[in-house]
Amino acid sequence: MSKFWSPAVRELTPYVPGEQPRERLIKLNTNENPYPPASGVGTVLRDYPVDHLRLYPDSESRALRDALAADLGVERKHVFVGNGSDEVLALAFQTFFCQARPLEMPAISYSFYPVYCKLYGVERRTHPLDSQWCVDLDAFSADAGGIIFANPNAPTGHGHGRDAIAGLLERAKESVVLIDEAYVDFGGESAVPLMARFPNLLVTGTFSKSRSLAGLRLGYAVGSQELIEGLERVKNSFNSYPVDSLASAVAIASLDDVEHFEACREAVITTRERTRTRLEKLGFQVLPSQANFILVNHPQFDAAQLFLGLRERGILVRHFNTDVLRDYLRITIGTDDEMDSLVETLELLCG
Ligand SMILES: *Cc1c(COP(=O)(O)O)cnc(C)c1O
Repeated sequence: MSKFWSPAVRELTPYVPGEQPRERLIKLNTNENPYPPASGVGTVLRDYPVDHLRLYPDSESRALRDALAADLGVERKHVFVGNGSDEVLALAFQTFFCQARPLEMPAISYSFYPVYCKLYGVERRTHPLDSQWCVDLDAFSADAGGIIFANPNAPTGHGHGRDAIAGLLERAKESVVLIDEAYVDFGGESAVPLMARFPNLLVTGTFSKSRSLAGLRLGYAVGSQELIEGLERVKNSFNSYPVDSLASAVAIASLDDVEHFEACREAVITTRERTRTRLEKLGFQVLPSQANFILVNHPQFDAAQLFLGLRERGILVRHFNTDVLRDYLRITIGTDDEMDSLVETLELLCG
């Protein structure tokens, strides 16, 4: 706390990201991808014409937006890019959610949303998950000031299908509905094809998880032209160049390699289901997941103790110390070898 901070800053509760340890641990705590990015990424980094860095990048990121648009089956004017989807989300809060009616969200979802509410002074209204721990779509009001949730949701891994999302978009016609699809490539169903029918739909995505590029910081949004233009207005009032030339070239190389992308996400999905079976044999309850993580609990063992036991043995997972999630661990899906170590260590701890 400092007397130099403005009053609003004194009131903030910043987001706390999962730890990035210095030691070599098996890192299953921040939903990074265990596989390397596409090989074309290395080629771009090796051969990039260094003199290009003298110049500002294209402020409209046209080449990257074209590549993304082709990948998503939409036109460039429907695509917005930013420095990580966290930044895209922040710009979306400023563009759409700073208004009188409260923003509605599930009580359990990505924990950055409440942080942005505080930062931008947006009033928040939360709805509990349903009895199956799914986002309760019927709970959202038709006249919400905006609606936001992750689909598949974090940290539960449950995802709603496109038809259910279409029902919500239809009902909440006057509200921007932001669907955060950070995990959609691991088995979810994307809402992007609904964009043509619903001008109130904004979908965000990221290169951090399914494209193994968390260090690059690249995220995007897809939506109607009016929503994208709104985001551009705010972006161009804040930072005209959020995506640097090198990041753009790297991202295009990643999009080019469909085969690598498919192979990695299939590997993660296969390992996830294999891990589920093995943990269930140890007595864990494992929530069904369409993401690259699983949320688990053990009826006989304290999650905080298991977290510490794993940490001592070189395995890092995520434990959220909140009322609802206290009994659970969120475990990122790593390689088969990493998950073997996890299961063997849990056998020891729960034996
Ligand atoms: C990881 C994550 C993000 C952030 O992605 P970046 O592009 O790395 O900023 C956004 N939303 C959810 C739900 C996430 O889990």
